[in-house]
Amino acid sequence: MDTVEKLKILSADSQYDLACACGTTKTGHRKRGLDGKWLYPVALPGGGQTILLKTLLSNACSGGCKYCPLRAKTDIRRCTLAPDEVARVFMQYYERRMAFGLFLSSGIMGSADATMDRINAAARILRYGYGFKGYIHLKVIPGASDAAIEDSLSLATAVSLNIETPGKKHSDRISAGKDYLTDIIRPIRLMGGLTARGRRYQRVKCTTQFIVGASDETDYEIVGSMYSLYGEMNFKRVYFSAYQRGLGEPDIPGEMKPFAPRKNDALVREHRLYQADFLCRKYGFKKDDILFGPDGNLSMDKDPKEVWADNHPEFFPVRLNTATKEALLKVPGLGPDTAQKIIEARGFGKIRRIEELGVKGKRLARIKAYAVPE
Ligand code: SF4
Repeated sequence: MDTVEKLKILSADSQYDLACACGTTKTGHRKRGLDGKWLYPVALPGGGQTILLKTLLSNACSGGCKYCPLRAKTDIRRCTLAPDEVARVFMQYYERRMAFGLFLSSGIMGSADATMDRINAAARILRYGYGFKGYIHLKVIPGASDAAIEDSLSLATAVSLNIETPGKKHSDRISAGKDYLTDIIRPIRLMGGLTARGRRYQRVKCTTQFIVGASDETDYEIVGSMYSLYGEMNFKRVYFSAYQRGLGEPDIPGEMKPFAPRKNDALVREHRLYQADFLCRKYGFKKDDILFGPDGNLSMDKDPKEVWADNHPEFFPVRLNTATKEALLKVPGLGPDTAQKIIEARGFGKIRRIEELGVKGKRLARIKAYAVPE
């Protein structure tokens, strides 16, 4: 197999990992760009956008994660890129101004550290062989040693380790062979600690991903873990990937539960989790402000901000001319940019009509349902 043929397979197999992409819309973060294969337009965890060459080093894997189409048992075409092959092909795209960064993950080749050695070797060739100073996102393999993780942090702009499930119970059910506490939580804590403010690798961003719906986890469990990842473990972004039915073993909950009553329910659930994530990161919502139904899940019909508003009638209407920024951010339809605009506009006189904010249509109607000028 030549490099391009391998890249076609390995890039396609990297599609399930969304830990480098941004997901404010239901499907936006799954978009591919340019050649439609391995060049992905993505939002960076620290802001801004770029185009990444996104690939696995190898889709051979000794792992047995029951939800993953790459698990050792499946009969798929396997191949592996050598570290220098990845570096060379990336530089060819970079020099043609077609890719500006690299996202490199891999199945487990033998052991976690043997795989990390090869991932880190590719990054080392780029940094020290080609003098590449741009964006490199490296995947940390579950179970990697502290030394291998530190090596990644010394080479990367961003690193990710996918937590996949909110807790050991779910992990044991769908990730055969992985020890949740030793292989996943221990490295996540180490990554967060070494990249904390004032620490040696504070410039490196840590991200992770949940696979949503492979087990019977609730949104309550996922959102609780998400708040811990941001608050206690210093992670910069949490991503969510809806489990795609048909890819895993028949005995996992995601395969066994009855078909969703509505088409695309899995993607709506993923979208609601992204909305909860935004409320946490950008709107100052505390963990207890995210409300769940009796089944422990977010509403499929309303976004979590509207659910909070409808459960707190005493808080409304919010008065645009006097409310704090925190209160403005509780109004459905008002985002951080508009809230800032309102505060700045108040310095020049009173807001007399909500229309002055320049919003229209359904969004205007939503704001009017919860806010008044005076
Ligand atoms: S370790 Fe698990 S999730 Fe990762 S590639 Fe292997 S089987 Fe898939």
